[in-house]
Amino acid sequence: MKTIISLVLVSFVTLVSGSFVCAEEILRQEGELIIKFKAQSQSGEEDILKVLADIISFHHLKNTLEEEKEVKVLNSYAWANIHHVQIPEGETLEHMIEEIKKLDEVEYVEPNYLFHVGASTEAMDYQEAAVQSSASSGGTQSGQALASGGQSVTVAVIDTGVDYTHKAIAPYMWVNTGEIPGNGKDDDGNGYVDDINGYDFVNNDSDPYDDHYHGTHVSGIVLSLQDSLNPVIKIMALKFLSKDGYGSTGDAIRAIDYAIKNGAKVLNNSWGGGGYSQALSDAIVASYNANRVFVVAAGNSSIDVDQYTSYPPSYLIPNMITVAALDSSTNLAWFSNYGPISVHVGAPGVSIYSTLPHQKYGYLSGTSMATPYVAGVAAMMLSQQPELMHLQVKKIIMDTSVSNASLQGYIGRGSVEPEDAVTVASSTTPDTNIPPYEASSAPPSWGSVAQKGGQAGMGCGMISELYADNDDFTSSSGMSLFFLSWPLLFVLMLKIFLLNRRQKFVFRQF
Ligand code: CA
Repeated sequence: MKTIISLVLVSFVTLVSGSFVCAEEILRQEGELIIKFKAQSQSGEEDILKVLADIISFHHLKNTLEEEKEVKVLNSYAWANIHHVQIPEGETLEHMIEEIKKLDEVEYVEPNYLFHVGASTEAMDYQEAAVQSSASSGGTQSGQALASGGQSVTVAVIDTGVDYTHKAIAPYMWVNTGEIPGNGKDDDGNGYVDDINGYDFVNNDSDPYDDHYHGTHVSGIVLSLQDSLNPVIKIMALKFLSKDGYGSTGDAIRAIDYAIKNGAKVLNNSWGGGGYSQALSDAIVASYNANRVFVVAAGNSSIDVDQYTSYPPSYLIPNMITVAALDSSTNLAWFSNYGPISVHVGAPGVSIYSTLPHQKYGYLSGTSMATPYVAGVAAMMLSQQPELMHLQVKKIIMDTSVSNASLQGYIGRGSVEPEDAVTVASSTTPDTNIPPYEASSAPPSWGSVAQKGGQAGMGCGMISELYADNDDFTSSSGMSLFFLSWPLLFVLMLKIFLLNRRQKFVFRQF
């Protein structure tokens, strides 16, 4: 009996903390900063090294060449005048930020924040399934295959990578035709050597293979929207989340930059977290200016993101489509974030069957799974009408979605209707004039809350559902056996939580 009570207690504590698990700490990459110089300064790499070396030498009262070399520019983005730098050991980020801020040439400087693919309970989310016979191309259940035969559209899956050898994915991988595989050269001059199917920004190599499983599952959902007889979607694998599910602002920006420059029209972002990052916001604005559709997971903290900041959803850049997760009855999933301003539509996100690495399939739940559904719909629309503007794609997806009583007041519109969206898109005249980007009219308190890091929840993309007894996944998850022993209790507690929450909803609605 004692054991049961303590199990209940542990479950309860985990349940309570689980709601906030993504909000506990804003993680950052030690020793790294992201700096934006003002437009007029046009600082090259040499100038940045000099400026930073000056600060350091002031601090150390030394000015040797060796020390100057300790500062390393990891990446530079000319389109935004943003530079990702590594500072020497012994320098604190706080000191560097404080000093760099004083410089006239600098518009802003910020830490390199870390993101995570899901909550700490990720080991429970995986349930392997036998391959189901399915009419859809990817062998996944999420999408209804849409009849089409349009132009090929590339979807960048900015995630943990993709198992590009999976039989349901391999034929639909994006291929960089300007690159000769394995010759050790950057044949197309895009800055990356041998980048055939995308790139791995975590390990800095040309192999974006999925050493987690999240990105492979997401990719299968994107592909599930197309008709296997007339495939039009290509997956560009951009790995910026590690095998443990972590990634940084700097690498997210590189992935977004790569997607824009290499022709992906739709960017799938089933991840979230971090503090407010002006640099990440600038990268999303760059995708806006390049006419890309930027699809974002609302997050799984069960919070109102109109009230509490959660990134990326709270950036509110107009080409973003932020997606909530719905259950099979098109009700808001219990874990899904919501907010009628920040969250635009809902899509299936509970127990979604899709591809997993090593020719496997399985079920996962989360706004991570709802997001690629919408990315797939956007790609199908663009295959029919390639010149559509991002805001047209978004408007059609929102206008054709169907709301119901349970969604009203929680998400901006309703449940995405793929067939209607594609039909309307194919008969819509493209408007190629992209309006200039104007910052969203977010409540002033948002900015200040965000700057202080006082957010209520991060946009974790994936939630746990059912635990796996599969060795491949439990062993890599690093979770102890103890934690794997109470999922049923956990689910039971969640159901109690869900019931209570639903009742509150009823009171609010009446
Ligand atoms: Ca290349």
